[in-house]
Amino acid sequence: MPIIIQKFGGSSLADAARIRGAAQRIADTRSAGFNVVVVASAMGHATDELITLAEQVAALPDRRELDMLMATGEQASVSLLAMALRELGFPASSLTGGQAGLRTDGVHGRARITRIECGRLERLISRGEIPVVAGFQGTSDEGEITTLGRGGSDTTAVAIAAALQVSQAGGYCEIFTDVDGVYTADPRLVRGAVKLPRISYEEMLELATLGAGVMHARAVLFGEKYGVPIHVRHSQKLDQGTMISRENPNMEELAVVGCALKDDLGRVSIRQIQNVVGLQGRLFSALARANIVVDDIMQTEQGSSTMIAFTLDNADLPDAKQIVARALAELNDGEMSIEVGLAKVSAVGVGMKSHAGVASRMFQALGEVGITIHNITTSEIKISCIIESANGQRALNAVHSAFGLGLGSNATIAMQTDSPRR
Ligand code: ADP
Ligand code: ASP
Ligand code: MG
Repeated sequence: MPIIIQKFGGSSLADAARIRGAAQRIADTRSAGFNVVVVASAMGHATDELITLAEQVAALPDRRELDMLMATGEQASVSLLAMALRELGFPASSLTGGQAGLRTDGVHGRARITRIECGRLERLISRGEIPVVAGFQGTSDEGEITTLGRGGSDTTAVAIAAALQVSQAGGYCEIFTDVDGVYTADPRLVRGAVKLPRISYEEMLELATLGAGVMHARAVLFGEKYGVPIHVRHSQKLDQGTMISRENPNMEELAVVGCALKDDLGRVSIRQIQNVVGLQGRLFSALARANIVVDDIMQTEQGSSTMIAFTLDNADLPDAKQIVARALAELNDGEMSIEVGLAKVSAVGVGMKSHAGVASRMFQALGEVGITIHNITTSEIKISCIIESANGQRALNAVHSAFGLGLGSNATIAMQTDSPRR
């Protein structure tokens, strides 16, 4: 029997009625002849509320304690979901991330999955039970509870799908959320955004990394690496959703399939530092050891010294600041300064590989609405501009319409006729 992994996000479990609704959906899938493993996020805004509580008792809450606290959010939802399933007559057992065998490194707040010991999940499945796993959390080899970073339940779901090799028997991973699929831009920010029936892992990974919060980027990475089909769907509507799958030749028809905005970026600048051999390796490996993902890196020569700057999530700024300060103290060189209030607007599409003029179109669109570009980065399939946060939504809308992604454009119609896999 194929295994389907069903992940429910916070808004899909916000109250008792929604939990019962999710349980019914799981029960229907089970009754249709599939084995199901459920992954659940914390209810509604529970994680935000727990963080606010922590900040009311400590200025900078200890990372280990914060993980202990945040992990309780998912524990509440998995136990309630298992109870609701039992009420419907389906044997279900809730499991913490650790009980489900999810092992991580020991970096609190942004731990990486190192392996999944599937024995317990497999035993439950073979007994006909439905395991209901707490997303977003795991345990380190020292037995410490860790969390995977905000939005990390998607990653739990796809990683479990990969570990159980669900795709080999026709299984897949369903991500149930509060939108009916992946859109050409965040539909909350761009009114004319259009749903994509399908998108490649590569494009979804870029969009997620560049701010499309509908999927956790590392979940898409696992999906691509292990060939797990990912189906993003609305938790309360029976719609087609969006399939995330391997690139197909039709996908190259469009230069740009979507755009994204990443807000809340900060920039760390190091000035007046001698460009000694190994400087960059030393700085950035210290950040990498703390699992800090650095966004754009800029380096310019300033006379006899050098300036190195990088952007990153505001949430990572306190840790990055400490790490860079320590490195500069050891080198006895350089001055650090911090800026906040930046954002990044990006356009993404595998078709960029074979279309010219994409970058110039984006720069023109931003220029026409009077937005200053502070930095530009490109890859084969994306173009990103750093701008001021206050201009974020306007920039996103300008770029979205410059590429004809909105309702009624020919480009969009071409995508809509490309029917989804299921
Ligand atoms: P969940 O709690 O189910 O994990 P999230 O809030 O993490 O839900 O993700 C869903 C949200 O992602 C949507 O409500 C939407 O505002 C946002 N989003 C951002 N970019 C996109 C996009 N390109 N397509 C769809 N939704 C997007
Ligand atoms: N509950 C966690 C968060 O709010 C994880 C998740 O929702 O995926 O970030
Ligand atoms: Mg999410």
